[in-house]
Amino acid sequence: MAATNTIQQLAERISGHLVQPKDDQYDEARGIWNGMIDRRPAAIAFCNHTSDVVQALRFARENKLPFSIRCGGHGVSGNSLVDDGLVIDLSCMRSVVVDPQKRRAIVGGGAQLGDFDRETQVHGLAATAGVDPSTGVAGLTLGGGTGFLARKLGLTIDSLVGAKVVLANGSIVRANATEHPDLFWALRGGGGNFGIITEFEFALHPIGPEVMSIQVFYPYKAAREVLRFYRDFMANAPEEVGCYVLLVPVPAVEPFPPEQHGKTAVALAGCYAGDLEEGRRALEPLTSIADPLLAVLEPVHYVDLQSSFKDAAPHGERYYWKSHFIEDITEELLDLVVERTEALPGHLSSCFFEPQGGAVNRIDPKATAYPHRQALYSISMSSGWSDPADDHANIAWTRSFYDAVAPHSTGGVYSNYMDFDEVDRVQSAYGENFDRLRRVKAEYDPNNVFRLNQNIKPATGA
Ligand SMILES: Cc1cc2nc3c(=O)[nH]c(=O)nc-3n(C[C@H](O)[C@H](O)[C@H](O)COP(=O)(O)OP(=O)(O)OC[C@H]3O[C@@H](n4cnc5c(N)ncnc54)[C@H](O)[C@@H]3O)c2cc1C
Repeated sequence: MAATNTIQQLAERISGHLVQPKDDQYDEARGIWNGMIDRRPAAIAFCNHTSDVVQALRFARENKLPFSIRCGGHGVSGNSLVDDGLVIDLSCMRSVVVDPQKRRAIVGGGAQLGDFDRETQVHGLAATAGVDPSTGVAGLTLGGGTGFLARKLGLTIDSLVGAKVVLANGSIVRANATEHPDLFWALRGGGGNFGIITEFEFALHPIGPEVMSIQVFYPYKAAREVLRFYRDFMANAPEEVGCYVLLVPVPAVEPFPPEQHGKTAVALAGCYAGDLEEGRRALEPLTSIADPLLAVLEPVHYVDLQSSFKDAAPHGERYYWKSHFIEDITEELLDLVVERTEALPGHLSSCFFEPQGGAVNRIDPKATAYPHRQALYSISMSSGWSDPADDHANIAWTRSFYDAVAPHSTGGVYSNYMDFDEVDRVQSAYGENFDRLRRVKAEYDPNNVFRLNQNIKPATGA
C-alpha cells in the first residue's frame, strides 16, 4: 500500500479532491450500490477533468498501485472499488451538452442516466438508457445498455457515435467510426477493458415528451397465465413496446391490500414509445389478463417513467445477482420460474425478464462487441436484503435458481449483470467476439493495466 505522504502528492496534481481513510467523508466516499462489497481503498480521487483522470492513472502506474474506475458505482460485481488502491472516480464529470439541431449529446464520463435523460428530454430527445436513474452512463454503455427503448432504438451502444478515451499509457484519443475504429468497436460491449472514457457522444432520437406507460400487478396465483400471455404478446408486439415482466414482492403501500403486502406478485412495467392512443390500444390487453391488484395505463413524461424504478433497489443494501440469456420463455422455463418465486428470499429480491428483439436483434452480432443479438430475453434472478445474517439464504436462492435455469439458456450472459464470483463466465459474456476483443486489448492495453472489470486478457503474439 502506498504511504500516505505519497498519496498526498496526487492531491497536488489534480484539480479535483482526494479522500483518504483519515477523512470524515471516507466511508461515504467508498460506498457503492452493492453493500455486499466492502473494500477500503487507499484513496479516492474525485476527478473534475480529463487531465485529472490522466494524472490519477499515471500516479497509480508510477506507484504500482492497483486502481479501479468508478462512474455511477452501480456495477453489480463491485469492480469500481479496490482494496488498498486508488479509485479513479469520475462522478464529478456529469455534464450533458445537447445539440438539438444535430441531435447529438456529449456526456461526461461520470454522468448518471438521470442526468442524460433529463438534459436530452428538454429537447424531446433520448437514446436507450437503463431503468434506474442513478446508474452510471459509462458502465452501462460499455457493457451494451438495455432499457425500455431498446426494441425501438437498439441498445445504448447502438446510439454511441464516439468517445474520448484515456489509454493505459496516459494518452488521450478519440474513438469513432473513422478514428481508432477497432477501439470504438471494442468499447461497444467490451466493458472497461480498454481505457477510461471521459466523454461519450451519442446520437439522439425524438421520444416523448410523453409516452404511454403501463404498470400492472397481478396476484401470484395468476403467474402462469400472465407469463404465457406476456410471451405470446411480446412475440407480435410493435417495436415501440418495451415491457418487462417481473416476479416481485407486493409493495407495502396503498392501494395494495394489506394481506398481499410482501407476497409475490407478477408485474408488468414498461411503455409504448410512440403515438399515445396507438400505445393505449397496443398495451390495453396486458391490463386484463386476470384480476389485477393494480392496473395503470396512462401517459407519463418519459423522464418520469425512467425514474419509476428509482426506489426498487436502494443504494447500499446487500445484493446478489445472476442472469442468463434465453431464446424464448418455454413452458418448462415458465413452470420453473413460477415454482422458484413463490417465496422470494429478501424484501428486495426479484426475478425479471427483459426483452430484446426488434432493433437490438437486427444488428449483426459481430458489428459491435456485444454478441447476444439473437437472444429474445435475459432473465435475472436477483436477491436483495439488509441483514448480513441473511447472506447465505439469499445467495443460495439465487445460485440454485440460476443453476436450474442454465439448461434453458443460450449459455451467454450480459457482462453488466455479472456478480463478483463469475470470473469463469467472462468468455460467455463476450461470446463470438471474445478473440477479436483479446486482439484489440493486446493493441491498446497489452499489459492489462485495466484489469478490474469483466477482464479480457490480451491475446499473446497478436
Ligand atoms: C439497480 C440497477 C439497475 C440496473 N439497470 C440496468 C438497465 O436497465 N440496463 C442495463 O443495461 N444495465 C442495468 N444495470 C447494470 C448496469 O449497467 C451495470 O451495473 C453498470 O456497470 C453500472 O455502471 P456504473 O457506471 O454505475 O458502474 P460502476 O460501478 O461505476 O462501474 C462499473 C465498471 O464500469 C467500468 N467503468 C465505469 N466508468 C468508466 C469509465 N468512465 N471509463 C471506463 N470504464 C468505466 C469499470 O470497469 C467499472 O468497474 C443496472 C444495475 C443496477 C445496480
